[in-house]
Amino acid sequence: MKTCYKCEGKLKEVKVTKEGIRVSCFKCTNCRKEYFTSRELIKFDVLTERR
Ligand SMILES: [Zn+2]
Repeated sequence: MKTCYKCEGKLKEVKVTKEGIRVSCFKCTNCRKEYFTSRELIKFDVLTERR
């Protein structure tokens, strides 16, 4: 996945902190929409469940 579904802009990999957990996601450089990979979402789910 390298282009945005919405505007077909370029996606850039960025690190974001979501509820205190650092996950990597892809952010559109054009419309700034964030895309989380399923792997990162699983990681997020696991880490939040353990708290
Ligand atoms: Zn976009």
